Parts: sequence; C-alpha cells; structure tokens
Amino acid sequence: MKTSTLCIIASLAIAAHCNPILTPPGTAQDEDVAETYLKRFYNLTEEKGTIFRHGISPLSEKLSEMQRFFRLKVTGILDSDTLQMMNKPRCGVPDVSQYTTFHGNLKWPTNKLTYRIENYTPDLSVSEVDTAIEKALQVWARVTPLHFNRIYSGIADIMISFGSRAHGDSYPFDGPDGTLAHAFAPSPGIGGNAHFDDDETFTFQSSHGYNLFLVAAHEFGHSMGLSHSKDPGALMYPVYSYRDPNRFSLSRDDVDGIQSLYGQNPVKPVGPEPPKTPDACDPNLVLDAIATLRGEQMFFKGRFFWRNFPQSRKAVQTLIKNIWPDVPDNLDAAYESRETDRVYLFKGRQVWALSGYDIVSSYPRSISSMGLPDTVKKITAALYEVHSGKTLFFVDKYYYSYDEASQRVDRGFPKLVEDEFQGMIGEVTAAFEFEGYSYLFHESRMFEFNSRSKRFYRELRTSYFLPC
Ligand SMILES: [Zn+2]
Ligand SMILES: [Zn+2]
Repeated sequence: MKTSTLCIIASLAIAAHCNPILTPPGTAQDEDVAETYLKRFYNLTEEKGTIFRHGISPLSEKLSEMQRFFRLKVTGILDSDTLQMMNKPRCGVPDVSQYTTFHGNLKWPTNKLTYRIENYTPDLSVSEVDTAIEKALQVWARVTPLHFNRIYSGIADIMISFGSRAHGDSYPFDGPDGTLAHAFAPSPGIGGNAHFDDDETFTFQSSHGYNLFLVAAHEFGHSMGLSHSKDPGALMYPVYSYRDPNRFSLSRDDVDGIQSLYGQNPVKPVGPEPPKTPDACDPNLVLDAIATLRGEQMFFKGRFFWRNFPQSRKAVQTLIKNIWPDVPDNLDAAYESRETDRVYLFKGRQVWALSGYDIVSSYPRSISSMGLPDTVKKITAALYEVHSGKTLFFVDKYYYSYDEASQRVDRGFPKLVEDEFQGMIGEVTAAFEFEGYSYLFHESRMFEFNSRSKRFYRELRTSYFLPC
C-alpha cells in the first residue's frame, strides 16, 4: 500500500498554553518536532540539518503548506502558532491531500461491508468498546447506503485492532499522545483496517483521555475513503477535539464528502440538516461575543471562535473546545479587563476567567458574585471601557455599569441602553471597544460610537473587523 493512502489518526495532548504572539524560531528541540511532523504528515523528504530560519527551502515550503492547511498565518517559518498546532493530538494520516477523498477516489465497490474487532483495550470494558465501534460506524451508515455487519472470525473488510509501537504494519505508533490511531483507505488486504494506539487512554463517556467513539468515527471515515478536511468543524479535521458523543453530528463538510462517494441513504435520504461551520464572509453572521486578549481579537460563534491580529488579513478559526475543553459553546458575552488582566467569558448565570489562555482555577463562578442581581439569568453582551475602567453588562434593553477597580456594580443601574447610546437599534448582542470607539452589535449589524461621548458615528459591516 502506498503511503498516500495510509491514514494515521493523530493524537497529541492539547497544548496547555497558547502564545498569541508570533515569535522567531524556537529551540533545536522545536525544530526536531517540526521536521518529524512535516516528514510524517506533509511528505517532507529533506535531510536533517536544514535550517528553518532561511526563507526559501523545501522546508519552508512545507511549513507554508501546513500553515495553509490549518488556516494559520502563512509565514514559512516555525512560529509559535505553528509549533502549537504541531503539538496537538491528531490522526496519523498525512494532510497532503487537497480533497475530502483520497487521490483516485478510492471507495468500496459494494455497500455491504463487514467488520471484526480483533482485540480489546484494557481501558474499557468489552461492551463499551463494542458499543463505541458500532456507534462510530453508524455515524456513516446513517447518511449513506452503507451497511456494516459484524463478523467474529475470518477476514473482514474492516479489521479493527489495538496495538502499540510496532504492531505489524510499517507505521509504528509513537507512545502516549501524538498519533492516536490510523486507518487505511478502501482496498483489498490491509485497506479499510483501523488501528488504535493502545498507549493512549481511551474513554467511553468522559471528556478526559481520548474518546474512543470520536477517534473511531474519524478513522472509519478514512476506512470509507475520506481524507482530511481543512474545515475545523469537520470530523475529518486531522486534530482531535472532544465533543459530547451523545449529541454528536457530522458536519455539512463530512456529509458532502461521504455522499460524493456513496450517495445518500435511500431509506432516509434527508436527515436533520448537518451543522455548517460558521463562515466569516456570511453577511448575515450573528456573533455570540467578542473580546480582546493582549492585542488579539476573539470573535465567538457557536462551537467556534476566530482569532484575529489587527494587522493580519485572515482570522484563524478554531473550536472553543480545542483551547478550553471546559468552556461551553454558544457563549453569551465576553470582555477583557485591563485592571485584572483577565478575559471573562459568560454563559447563563456562570462566568469563566482566563489569565492568558489559562482558566483561573477558582472559576466558573456565578454572575451574582460580580454584583448582578439574582433576577439576571444571563447577559447578552459586555463592553469594557478603557477610559473609565468600567464594564457595561447588557441585559435586554438595559445595561449595568461594573467598576473594575472596586469590583462592584455601580449605583443607579440598570439604565436604558437607548438613553445612553442614541442611535442604537435593538438589543445589544455583542460588544467590544477598539482604539477609543465602542462597537455595539445587534445581530448582524454593528454600530460605532465614541467611547467617551457615546456619540453615534456610523453603522458598519461585521466584516469590518473580521476579515474573510
Ligand atoms: Zn485522519
Ligand atoms: Zn497500524
């Protein structure tokens, strides 16, 4: 089997720290990590000793290719964002494919496939493994004409096994984290088979360790003929991220990919509409919340957020869970306080605090701990004002003023938004301040005010700050 059809499941531990500032190339150890990564996933053939610092080299081209794949800033150098991405748990299959299918559209000639579970991981009970595997196959069967029948002896189309390090093929595993699993594209022999790295800790329901159902569902996408996707919301994205297995759903991109090979499910051709990854170019995009973080802007929407550096032309889209596994999706509000040098994220009655990219350990707390009355069930936006050291919490048509220094809600509030921000239309759904101007959002509309005078200037498109 050619290496181009090898799918590796990669898994790396989520980096505990994300440095938002681009830095020059790192240590020799970082360069080793990068070289190994590019050889494994980007077909780098360059010999050891290549220098990362120089502009044009095969290595720099491969770095650029990887940065394009992950929608990072394309610098061609080993900057901190790139290194951080390289350290995430992922699938072992290379990312060199441009499409959602393997080169040559490899697929099974039949819709009736067999699978066999050859052995078990000690991390889970036999029935948990059986259930996770069955559920992972059904993810694909639900949207295609594919059927999977389990067999208990002999050779199945999809042979499933757990192994560590060298395990009988030419692609040894790498110990804990890093690569989590791999699978082979459809073909006779090893084709379709899925191998799981038993040096990982696999879990059944927990968000800790690596959820076997999520890892297996990704691998079986390869077993069916899908390659990696650049869409960070897709199951076929190469990097592992946790999501609730009980509420799992394929993304639009995954469904389009598998249906391009096998067509729709003839019994139930239309299921629930699969979720689409939010598009920064969508003129009707309604953001959940916006905050800054030490010069970076963060735009939250659903399970995702975009990170944007004011000078860059492209925002990087990431799953919230990839950075903060314990922060919920669909946030209500967010802001950064200069007084506390923290970012606060709100959902319902709870608030999380971040120091840099780390969650402060005494959080989440109740929003009433900030002095908001118990009648407030959620806030819809938060606006930190640099000049006053106050944060405005928006609730329906009203807002509260919170003093960052004394950490108290000011007297005389709530007030009507329209009394202070004349020209603002509708409930404030997101807000942030930038260079002396306050930006209040109502759904997909953005209104610009002078932060001090509260004078209304103009209405702008959301894409004014969020490049697409
Ligand atoms: Zn993969
Ligand atoms: Zn293997």
